[in-house]
Amino acid sequence: MQLLEERILKDGKVFPGNVLKVDSFLNHQVDVELINEIGKEFYRLFKDCGVNKIFTIEASGIGIACITAQYFHVPVVFAKKTLGKNIAADVYSTPIKSFTHGKTYDVIVSQEFLNKDDKILIIDDFLAQGCALNGLIELIKSAGAEIVGAGIVIEKAFQQGGDLIRSEGIRVESLARIESMTDDGKITFCK
Ligand code: 5GP
Repeated sequence: MQLLEERILKDGKVFPGNVLKVDSFLNHQVDVELINEIGKEFYRLFKDCGVNKIFTIEASGIGIACITAQYFHVPVVFAKKTLGKNIAADVYSTPIKSFTHGKTYDVIVSQEFLNKDDKILIIDDFLAQGCALNGLIELIKSAGAEIVGAGIVIEKAFQQGGDLIRSEGIRVESLARIESMTDDGKITFCK
C-alpha cells in the first residue's frame, strides 16, 4: 500500500534490535485518516470471505480493528493481556512472548465471544516473529472457529513470522512488507 509505505519512510524510526517505531501515526499518536484507508484496503482484500468477526490483541490492534470493522459491519473482539495467576475458567488462554518487551504473558479471551460458527479475520499492527499472531490463532482454534486470514499493517519480512504462519496454510495479507532496515534508518520494502 503506497500511502503507508510513504508514511513509514517519512515518519518511521529504526531502533536497535530491529524495532521500527511508528509512534507518530500508529502506536501512540494515531492518524485516523490513514487507518481509515488501511481499513478500506483490508475490506477490499477480505470482503468475499464471509467474515463475521474481527479479532485482535490489545492495545495497538484495537483502533485498527475497529475502523476496519466499520466496513465489514461486524463486531471486534480483542484478546486481553494478563499477568496470569488466576485465569478464569470461562476463557481461552495462551502464552505469548512479546517481541518488543521480551516478556511472556498470558492472553485471554472470554469463551462467550468466540464460537465455533465464527469466521474470523485477525487484524494486528505488526508481524515480526509471529508470536502474537500465533497466539491469536491458538485462541481461535481453541474455540473451534474458522480463520479466514490475517490482515497486518506492517510485516518485517526479514523476520520469520510471516513465512511460518503462511506455511501453516493461513492467508496473511500485509499492507507494507519491510525487506530490510539498517541501524542508520534505511528502510527497503519487498517488491
Ligand atoms: P511478533 O509477536 O510477531 O514477534 O511481534 C508482533 C507484536 O510485537 C506486534 O503486535 C507489535 O505490537 C510488536 N512489534 C513487533 N515488532 C515491532 C516493531 O518493530 N515495532 C513496533 N512498534 N512493534 C513491534
